[in-house]
Amino acid sequence: METSEQRVKIAVQKTGRLTEHSQDLLERCGLKLTRSKDRLFCYGENMPVDLLLVRDDDIPGLVSDDVCDLGIVGLNVVEEKRLELQSVGRNAEFRQVFALDFGHCRLSLAAPDSTKYQGIQSLNNSKIATSYVYLLNRFLKSNSIQAETVFFSGAVEIAPKLGKADFICDLVSTGATLEANGMRELDVLLESEAVIIQTRAPLSNAKQALVDRLLQRLDGVLQVRESKYIMLHAPRSALAEIRSLLPGSESPTVIPLEGSTDRVAVHAVCRENVFWETLENLKAAGASSLLVLPVEKMLA
Ligand code: ATP
Ligand code: ZN
Repeated sequence: METSEQRVKIAVQKTGRLTEHSQDLLERCGLKLTRSKDRLFCYGENMPVDLLLVRDDDIPGLVSDDVCDLGIVGLNVVEEKRLELQSVGRNAEFRQVFALDFGHCRLSLAAPDSTKYQGIQSLNNSKIATSYVYLLNRFLKSNSIQAETVFFSGAVEIAPKLGKADFICDLVSTGATLEANGMRELDVLLESEAVIIQTRAPLSNAKQALVDRLLQRLDGVLQVRESKYIMLHAPRSALAEIRSLLPGSESPTVIPLEGSTDRVAVHAVCRENVFWETLENLKAAGASSLLVLPVEKMLA
């Protein structure tokens, strides 16, 4: 058995909005996970990969300090940590590998419905409550706004009701929470989604090879999510038009059809969803026998 140093450690959120998606994504990369008795880890049964289950705010730090090799966390948390480290003259020792297409939200300014707002100048001399002090201050500074930031570690949306702030700067996805609190969204500071980050610390060759393999599988999982395999018959003369209609596909495979000189079969992987409208357009271009199949796995 490998020593713990040889195992890849991935920091993921213990309980929260990212937890289920993060584990699901890793399981779809072929990782079989068992939770430890103390519920602080998930052990990979079939690969030397373990998950460390922590608060999302701790993830960039754990990866930056090389306690974990990889981490899955919201870009909002990553950027806030990066600015926090910068403020004390340190560099974030992690790099963002890629976005994972879940946990979509935005860091936005909002105010009670009754508050007057005529553009960001209205923020001058106001109090703004947030958990994202560094991102908010960067925004205020780059817009030359003088305002007081009031730190709230949670439940930021109640700050105006408590008389602690005029505005808030908080995460929004559907806007339902704002609406329920009688507030409206004013401006977006950051569009966010879950991302995977990797430590900048050098890894052993074996570990790096495993990290590369995992990242390649992750990339494959993300690509197949929207990908479809499309099969159709078409006249040779319509091939150019048909190719231009196939959404996000590279070179399709063209196969002769037994007993036909002018019609061929076309098979292609489309890296975008294939909608009814696309099928109708393909049919109008001369295609027939159209079939669209989901793609389960892909390895470039
Ligand atoms: P923890 O206990 O781990 O600190 P938390 O309360 O800070 O949890 P969650 O509310 O679970 O965190 O949110 C985790 C991440 O989910 C956020 O940092 C953000 O990237 C993403 N997210 C997506 N939609 C929303 C939303 N509507 N509100 C808050 N976060 C969202
Ligand atoms: Zn958190």
